[in-house]
Amino acid sequence: MSIEKEQQLVFEEIDKSWEEELAFLQKIGRFKSTLGNETALQNYLADYFKEELELEVDKFVPDMKELSSHPAFSPPEWSYDGRPVVVGKAEAEGPKKGKSLILQGHIDVVSAEPEKEWDYDPWGSTIEGNKMYGRGIQDMKSGVAAFIFAYKAIKEAGIKLDGDVILQSVIEEECTGNGALAALERGYTADAALIPEPFGQKVVQSQVGVIWVRVKVKGLGAHTERANEAVNPIEKAYVIVDALKSYREHINSRAKHEDFKHHPHPLNVNIGKFHSGDWPSSVPSECVLEARVGFYPGQDPADIKKEVKDWLLEAAEKDSWLKEVQPEITFYGFHADGVSLDDTTPLFQTLDQSFEQVVKKPLERTVITCTTDIKYYNLYYDIPATCYGPVGGNMHGLNEWVDLDNLKEVTKVYADFILRWCGTKNQTEET
Ligand SMILES: [Zn+2]
Repeated sequence: MSIEKEQQLVFEEIDKSWEEELAFLQKIGRFKSTLGNETALQNYLADYFKEELELEVDKFVPDMKELSSHPAFSPPEWSYDGRPVVVGKAEAEGPKKGKSLILQGHIDVVSAEPEKEWDYDPWGSTIEGNKMYGRGIQDMKSGVAAFIFAYKAIKEAGIKLDGDVILQSVIEEECTGNGALAALERGYTADAALIPEPFGQKVVQSQVGVIWVRVKVKGLGAHTERANEAVNPIEKAYVIVDALKSYREHINSRAKHEDFKHHPHPLNVNIGKFHSGDWPSSVPSECVLEARVGFYPGQDPADIKKEVKDWLLEAAEKDSWLKEVQPEITFYGFHADGVSLDDTTPLFQTLDQSFEQVVKKPLERTVITCTTDIKYYNLYYDIPATCYGPVGGNMHGLNEWVDLDNLKEVTKVYADFILRWCGTKNQTEET
């Protein structure tokens, strides 16, 4: 049987099981798998891998102690108890001439708050027209559905792959990346890894690094009748807000990394949390704000942390109160390197072929101003890895959605990629 015939059979399977794929995506979209709440969905997926896909399943909780000595470890402030990573492995039978592949996706999603502002139930997986809405539907449960149904279609078509395939559902992508790191440290490696993060019809060639910083500003709390003698930490925190804004301007005014030279604003510094006070008639005692800082591939996250800390302390020095009561600057969560990829490797070449086969046009490259799990594979395990996933919108915002026609196309690209990358027994026997 020719490879074209095999592709045809698999594409027909994807068309045939399309309703099932949609129902599956709706089902996993309804699990509220925010940080700390991934267990139910992970259990569901572990069962699905075992029962429906007949994979050898490994469900394990990341070992924080073991991971913490890894140079790419990001320190969390929460426990991993009861929060497993799920791996399903399909070992190719007999002697293998093909290459092995990891298909990985994260099922942790960010909060949907303020939920009442959504036009759709964020946990309802509503389909309207050609779109499905929900928190995490685009980022990235649709991608997880795509690789699961791509693999399933190959299996249903009765095609035997000539390389091992490892399917992974990980946690912690939105805050540390330690789920992906834990699977690698457990020994799940392959000749390549593909992650269907949803960056439209484009493949990722470069991504920035990310750190999180927390700044605690102390004030002098009091009843408002003595507010003139008090120091309001919310007002003082604006010194830090301004410093973060000027830091953002500073880093974007420096020479750009080659990969990002055409990007208008590659490095975002985002203030994502700002908490203080609990009573209008009390001057609060402290204000805590947290920010996320982007930086270029090749820069060391530890150096960036130092630069951010020095920048903020310098700004504090210019304020009479903060000079005396220095803000407390700490780091947790993301300690993520940026990564720049060679887009001429066999991984990209094969993905180019699969994309062109299905979509009938060349696969464009993109650089992204956020982080994904591909950093670990490329930088620490010498495994070529990239992201290519469906078109959607509003990720991390209200009314997040994915384009369903496009999702079907992505499922076919993934299936075609698996056939080409792993090879099939049928093809090796013929050659
Ligand atoms: Zn994502």
